[in-house]
Amino acid sequence: MSNSNKRGTVKVINGRYRPDGSFHYNYPNTPIYDEAGKLMGVTNPRDLTHIHAYGGESQFFSSLKDGEIWGTKCENPDCEHTGTVNLPYKIYCPDCLKKAIPVNLTATAIKSATVHTFMVTERTGAFNTLEKPIRFINIEFEGVDTILMSYLSVGEPKVGMRVVPIFRKVEPTFTILDLSWVPLGTSVEKLPDGFSFSK
Ligand SMILES: [Zn+2]
Repeated sequence: MSNSNKRGTVKVINGRYRPDGSFHYNYPNTPIYDEAGKLMGVTNPRDLTHIHAYGGESQFFSSLKDGEIWGTKCENPDCEHTGTVNLPYKIYCPDCLKKAIPVNLTATAIKSATVHTFMVTERTGAFNTLEKPIRFINIEFEGVDTILMSYLSVGEPKVGMRVVPIFRKVEPTFTILDLSWVPLGTSVEKLPDGFSFSK
């Protein structure tokens, strides 16, 4: 590592990841005492930078900032389930393991996205940055064989509710959080900061 005080970044040179800087930081620990002052343990502060490789899924994440949702379709004629459309994006068909073809599902999502089921929660995984309560929704689409997990940004979810996608085009995070949903008919003024409709 060239400079231990520099937070880790990665470049790709000739198709290979080239990490630079520090990906792990340790901080001084602190004692944990009980009411009588007896040592009960210590904290171990750690700071890690994970590298999350997108590989063949990169198109899905890079297209969100452009207001597009991409899935994949199996076009292998020998596949038992040829024609299956997957969203989330799957690089390989889970049935025949052949490479699937990317398909633009933006128009499909706009005209047919419907809440299949939902869950409203105050308790989430570590490092979840969404505002609570989080309205997780599972979304179905016409002609798509899978259900997409995402979150509703405006209103309260209902089973069967028509929703439309919104995209974080301003300062995108390049994660799945750049895609969210609002009830059909929501006005642009109600969208969260940085988000807009597809077009
Ligand atoms: Zn297949």
